[in-house]
Amino acid sequence: MQFSDLGLESGLMSTVEHLGFTEPTEIQQQAIPAAMSGHDLIASSKTGSGKTLAFILPAMQRLLKNRALSKKDPRVLILMPTRELAKQVYSQLRMFTSASQFKAVLILGGENFNDQVKTLEKDPHFIVATPGRLADHLSQGHFYLNGLELLILDEADRMLDLGFAKQLTQINNAADHRKRQTLMFSATLDHAQVNDFALALLKKPKRIAIGSAYTEHQDITKRFYLSDNLAHKEALLEHFLANESYQQVIIFTATRSDTDRLANVLIENGISASALSGELSQSQRNQIMDSFSKGQNKVLVTTDLASRGLDLVNVSHVINFDMPKHAEEYVHRIGRTGRAGSKGDAISFVGPKDWVSFKNVEGLLQQTTSFDSFKGLKAKFTGIKPKKTKKVKPSSDNKRTNQGKSKSALPVKSNNKTFLIAKEAGDMPVLRKKKPLPADKIESSDIEES
Ligand code: ADP
Ligand code: MG
Repeated sequence: MQFSDLGLESGLMSTVEHLGFTEPTEIQQQAIPAAMSGHDLIASSKTGSGKTLAFILPAMQRLLKNRALSKKDPRVLILMPTRELAKQVYSQLRMFTSASQFKAVLILGGENFNDQVKTLEKDPHFIVATPGRLADHLSQGHFYLNGLELLILDEADRMLDLGFAKQLTQINNAADHRKRQTLMFSATLDHAQVNDFALALLKKPKRIAIGSAYTEHQDITKRFYLSDNLAHKEALLEHFLANESYQQVIIFTATRSDTDRLANVLIENGISASALSGELSQSQRNQIMDSFSKGQNKVLVTTDLASRGLDLVNVSHVINFDMPKHAEEYVHRIGRTGRAGSKGDAISFVGPKDWVSFKNVEGLLQQTTSFDSFKGLKAKFTGIKPKKTKKVKPSSDNKRTNQGKSKSALPVKSNNKTFLIAKEAGDMPVLRKKKPLPADKIESSDIEES
């Protein structure tokens, strides 16, 4: 199938051609015709598969073809979980609206409220927004949604995880009329709250699920390195940066304070690095993202805040300095590389604190991992086996892992110290100095929600 088969207006086709796209991706092939025929949609496909155009194109088409329901109200509202993500979608949208009579605006949390009031007074056709701030403007009557034709929720699962259910409901209620169409995109449809929301917001939706959101990304090579502690992780990182070739690297850490510390360590080593830490103002964050996407920095250190959706084509490597708390996040993090057909590398450091998360990721990917090591930097740590009697509490994160199968853990007494044989980590004995934490407590409390 070609884009020209979709029956898009010629103005849209020229922008698509200008972008150099000829063939729609799988999600685009399915979602664009369904959305153009007026259906509500709930759709999922893996990260980097082109979901943005899958909703921008039908939205543009609808505005070009249909008369507005209202002269003042926005016609299309696109909601995104994070500011960075909203900016990215906005810039793709602008490529289409700039060649049209339609006005698109961006309304983000953390930016000047009064400026946004003025922006909204100009009656834009498209609003791209994060839900919290937009709901504030809605409550204060700075715009109305009675004429809204298309409500688009991108990364719906993430918006719900971030606690935006109330705002989404408020926005939905303000735009609840017969002619409204709703498109909902989610990394996974296997999410209870997403399904509840779909029932409430969507009318007879078409469900589109392309593969599993967790299917392996063919173009991303995954490597895992065992590590002993923070200093060892830093040594691994320095070894990588000194010995391998890379274009740009995103490093994910568990906490925001680590992002600053690690970026400083890199800068001291002569590497151009920046940190996206929580302390920064919105404009500082924007500046850092802009300069990274322009290639002015080689390395960006961040928490899961930047793991979703960001489309940075020159990111050759993603490094999980700490494993993500939630296994699904691994998929989103590594999806920051290998974008649009280019190759990527995902490197993960797995220390004692990361072990539970690592096992969850392994379960999610349905693979058994063999660990790599850098010469001279082999870890003493070889993995943790849960005690025979310890059952991992089933949660949505680990129900598909094989942690329950812990029968092969053989406690061995030697020199008054307890050793456990870690089969999957190469049969090396693991020295236990202290009583091990229950598996579900290892997710350290210092891991900050992003
Ligand atoms: P997702 O939202 O599914 O993670 P994006 O919409 O961000 O993915 O798209 C990922 C990348 O693929 C972007 O760089 C985008 O420009 C590119 N892309 C989108 N559609 C196509 C296409 N049909 N052909 C080639 N590249 C595309
Ligand atoms: Mg996306």
